[in-house]
Amino acid sequence: MAEFKCKDIGMKCGFEVKGASSKDEVMQIAQVHARVTHNITTITPDLAQKVSSAIRG
Ligand SMILES: [Zn+2]
Repeated sequence: MAEFKCKDIGMKCGFEVKGASSKDEVMQIAQVHARVTHNITTITPDLAQKVSSAIRG
């Protein structure tokens, strides 16, 4: 199981991913969330790294 909290990357946001089966799945969900909620259309390597290191599980 993998978990991610948007606030762990410094966003003032209550979004959480829980119970994802893999880190890859969390990355995909987070990417959609970033686009829809934070208007981030391009995930830079820097941001991907931040998200990756904030994923637990
Ligand atoms: Zn968020």
